[in-house]
Amino acid sequence: MAKKTDKKLSGWDFSPSPEGTSHIALKDKYDLFIDGKWVKPSSGKYFDSINPSNEEKISSVAHANQADVDKAVKAARKAYNGAWGKMSGKERGKYIYRIARMMQEKARELAVIETLDGGKPIRESRDIDIPLACNHFFYYAGWADKLDYAFPNRKVESLGVAGQIIPWNFPLLMAAWKIAPALAAGNTVVLKPAESTSLTALKLAEIIEESGLPAGVVNIVTGFGDTGAAIVNHPDVDKVAFTGSTDVGKIIQKAISGTDKKATLELGGKSANIILEDAPIDQAVEGIVNGIFFNQGHVCCAGSRLFVQESVAEVVINKLKQRLDSLYVGNPLDKNTDIGAINSKEQLQTIKKYIKIGQEEGAEMYQSPCSIPTKGYFCPPTLFTNVAQSSVIVQEEIFGPVLTIQTFRTVDEVIQKANNTPFGLAAGVWTDKGSRIFNLTTKLRAGVVWANTYNKFDPTSPFGGYKESGFGREGGLHGLEAYVKLS
Ligand code: NAP
Ligand code: MG
Repeated sequence: MAKKTDKKLSGWDFSPSPEGTSHIALKDKYDLFIDGKWVKPSSGKYFDSINPSNEEKISSVAHANQADVDKAVKAARKAYNGAWGKMSGKERGKYIYRIARMMQEKARELAVIETLDGGKPIRESRDIDIPLACNHFFYYAGWADKLDYAFPNRKVESLGVAGQIIPWNFPLLMAAWKIAPALAAGNTVVLKPAESTSLTALKLAEIIEESGLPAGVVNIVTGFGDTGAAIVNHPDVDKVAFTGSTDVGKIIQKAISGTDKKATLELGGKSANIILEDAPIDQAVEGIVNGIFFNQGHVCCAGSRLFVQESVAEVVINKLKQRLDSLYVGNPLDKNTDIGAINSKEQLQTIKKYIKIGQEEGAEMYQSPCSIPTKGYFCPPTLFTNVAQSSVIVQEEIFGPVLTIQTFRTVDEVIQKANNTPFGLAAGVWTDKGSRIFNLTTKLRAGVVWANTYNKFDPTSPFGGYKESGFGREGGLHGLEAYVKLS
């Protein structure tokens, strides 16, 4: 646990309270989960999955190539044409419920593995990632036998084989967002987790194996970008569901243009969090901190651009700095930790590059005076004031604990500034007045707008972006619709 260096500001200190790891079962080496079996990668290659908080290796993970992806797609097709395709929705639902319950039983183990492999604080994996992942399975299990009610007066058909590619910021939760609606609608799946966070998807494969789900319905292939590309380009994949960066999203869109593959792309963001002068200031400051420093800023919808009305700017910025000083940066397994490890060395380099650009652009930087561990990938929470709308750090996604702060005078001005990025994933509004909330929520070009809260998720509620933040929705009925053909 990092010790506070400035006792005057933090006032008090906590004793370390690390979560135990003795109850987790991890293999030294993970093969690919294809057709209900664990199979060796045809190249014979494995890569290391490391713990970003201490740079130690946790396990070896198979690198799937095109031949392995082909095997997985064939298994998924066979299951789709066979047992799964013929099964009633009611029976499908029972399997999905079973997976949800088994995930719940193993919630503690999954939370610890998520934190070890990805670097996020245990408090978040335990209280947010894993419960939400289970809830997605429970929610979509409920729809499996009610598709005719979900889409009344329409003929509902499944799509076939879904190829799904996910990022490293919410590994198990993203797998749940993808797999649960696909299965509820009757599809089969080939899923690739991100290379730096494969372990909870592989644990999910073990749960799926134990659940007795027919072989080939869910296949998990681990690897790098080439594995993802092999899924996208496979001719027998009917639907591509991708969550990740806008750059890779654009490559995927090009690759599937001219094919009849369906697609949903959930991409990057640069979301605005707006504090109006009548907002409850302490609540708003806490919401801003949660919006950007939660999960080290590794959140696609992170509220990374703060807009404060001029009359309250000084008080908000002072309170933010004070709050920053009381955040604990350090061992992600410690229950007191607020900010854990950056997911990878590469990501830490990217964040540092942007911090340097911010300073070179003439912005004023404030970093919490906390000490950070010497081993592992850590970044102190960082604020930038004196930024312009055209600053690189205001326009580009940093995907780290870095907040830019701008001021505004009128509501029209802030709407114009908030909308002025290539992205449109989320936004937050802090005000005492309902009329102001409704005015802003209708004018902000973002898929989700939170009012007097931030980063709240629920399986029943759709999530997705405008503009370069992608298209298609996940969650709720909209998320189910992305996995069916309606006529
Ligand atoms: P990324 O580099 O785009 O990677 C996402 C996934 O795509 C990974 O599994 C990656 O494999 C794979 N991949 C890489 N190149 C590929 C290619 N050419 N074809 C197919 N797949 C390929 O993104 P990331 O850095 O992991 O994640 C961060 C990004 O995700 C941020 O931009 C964030 O905003 C976005 N995100 C969006 C949402 C949303 O719902 N809108 C949610 C979470 C994250 P490897 O990891 O092995 O390279
Ligand atoms: Mg890792």
